Amino acid sequence: MSKTIIPARKAIAVSIRAGQSIKITNTHGKQVIDFWAFNPNDSHDYLSMVHTRTILLAVTLHVGDRLYSTKRKPMLKVIEDTTRGVHDMIWSACDSERYHMQGFQGYHDNCADNMHSALRNHASGMEISDDWVPDPLNLFMNVAIDHHGSLDIRPPTSEKGQYVVLEAAADLLLVMSSCPQDMAPVNGGQPTDCEYEILNGPASLVPKVIEGASDILMSIPKALASTARPRRVKVCLSFDFDAVSHWLGTG
Ligand SMILES: [Zn+2]
Repeated sequence: MSKTIIPARKAIAVSIRAGQSIKITNTHGKQVIDFWAFNPNDSHDYLSMVHTRTILLAVTLHVGDRLYSTKRKPMLKVIEDTTRGVHDMIWSACDSERYHMQGFQGYHDNCADNMHSALRNHASGMEISDDWVPDPLNLFMNVAIDHHGSLDIRPPTSEKGQYVVLEAAADLLLVMSSCPQDMAPVNGGQPTDCEYEILNGPASLVPKVIEGASDILMSIPKALASTARPRRVKVCLSFDFDAVSHWLGTG
């Protein structure tokens, strides 16, 4: 499959089969991709950062690590990473309120709305509450943690053409948003396009970008959204700053 653009400030949804991989390329460098994965066969089973952190006992990823669902099932595996390995598993997706808090007046593109728009456009069978957004895996995002547990957003260390490859452990519906944050150094100041490519798929399993609800009828009941929404993660961290800075590749 040829490369497909994830347009700057926008999101796309795509289905992937177990055993296939997705290569996500930082085409111009310094661009964060908010990444979500849903199990199309189980509406209560979706990629969970808190479960992944808990199982990995870590707040960042390395090649060979698996990403886990709310039911602690492996969903994806990091099989290649040409960046310095700086990705974020803590930061929430940006949303309208985030930009209002930063002083923006009016509507600003945001990853939360992007996720819902991508799902509506490509998997209209999904019924999810408009204000329910799982914590994303923020590929290429650089969030440093100091020894007091404080967080600091820094420009991504990823460079032009660097990429990550994730292998699917199950059939999944993926959503990827090229983060539109331009009021913080999240994307190096200028949101840009990225690209993805599906790899290792047998001809009979060529993935299909989901159009309508015909091939994936995933229903996340509004009731689930109402129960999932209040989830809060209290992260208590105690790190040696220099060690963590080196570990995260920000030192
Ligand atoms: Zn964002």
